[in-house]
Amino acid sequence: MDRNATKEKSYLIDSLSQGYLPEPEELITLLEGGIDEYLFQKANEMTLERKGKKVDIRAILEFSNYCRCRCTYCGLSAENPNVNRYRLSEEDIVKTTLEAAQAGYRTIVLQSGEDLFYTEEKICKIVRKIKAQSDISITLSIGERPYQELSAMRKAGADRFLLKHETSDEDFYKEIHKGDLLKDRVDTQKNLKSLGYETGGGFMIGIPGQTLQMIAGDLLLIREIGCEMAGIGPFISHEDTPLRGQKSGDPLLTRRTVAIARLLLPDANLPATTSLGVIDSSQLDLIFKNGANVIMRKVTPWSERTKYEIYPTNFGEEKDIKTARTELEKYIESLDRIPV
Ligand code: SAH
Repeated sequence: MDRNATKEKSYLIDSLSQGYLPEPEELITLLEGGIDEYLFQKANEMTLERKGKKVDIRAILEFSNYCRCRCTYCGLSAENPNVNRYRLSEEDIVKTTLEAAQAGYRTIVLQSGEDLFYTEEKICKIVRKIKAQSDISITLSIGERPYQELSAMRKAGADRFLLKHETSDEDFYKEIHKGDLLKDRVDTQKNLKSLGYETGGGFMIGIPGQTLQMIAGDLLLIREIGCEMAGIGPFISHEDTPLRGQKSGDPLLTRRTVAIARLLLPDANLPATTSLGVIDSSQLDLIFKNGANVIMRKVTPWSERTKYEIYPTNFGEEKDIKTARTELEKYIESLDRIPV
């Protein structure tokens, strides 16, 4: 790359660090690479300034793999007949969450497909039961719900909500989220914000058909919404979906995108996504020096865990919640970070 281009890019990175709102074309020049070392250094400085060396460890409990959606990228799509579907009982959801709290987790993500079996009433009851016995923070990740339901769940005690927008391009959204509208997704995110949820958004990197222009739009959208969390992870192809056999998202492009997200949203919680670790565990080590400050660990009961396969996953050997958490703490310490 010529010296002028390098100078322009480093000037842009400095401006982003100072709160400059970029044009999409400017972000594309960074996504194209050529200045990674400086980008990663600045993202790391910003992370250390805002978050210190702390890495938040969060539990994730996948309580149902039923889904009404037909997303072309997702192994749990309603159109996949090969999924062995399960639903956890209210008792098991509460019991597993309390076990996670005892093992030291301060936050649990309750995630599922878009499964309307769990009505507003059921979710509220689960949230209330957990909150009556523990002060663990509850993040819901259950897909789109109407304003009234989200409001009731918030009143019941839910603290956060994770709903990735997946792609900021309207036509591409219709294609991959088969028939659904980006507007509904983004409106739901705005509702979550107005209800006082800590709101998580995010998107995938490398889903076939995605362009750098779209990723620039994704980054600007999470900034516009003002996401308090943003999950940015590489796409991994699942054999039982229309995207079977396609190449996975690029880990380096993922790291660049997370680094830019750190500069655009200095205080956000940015997870090292599970899918990045699935592609390449050494990339997972690096992402903590490129802006990430959160990691999630599954606490889903082993009887059901392997049935929750959004993308092909290496489940590893069976361990109890406490042992798995202790190992993760050691891993984070080995990266010169402090597990919280
Ligand atoms: N049904 C809930 C939970 C989402 S699943 C919802 O719609 O909000 C969690 C996330 O996994 C998705 O938001 C998506 O970004 C990611 N994901 C889905 N399929 C994937 C794939 N094939 N590769 C990588 N990430 C994927």
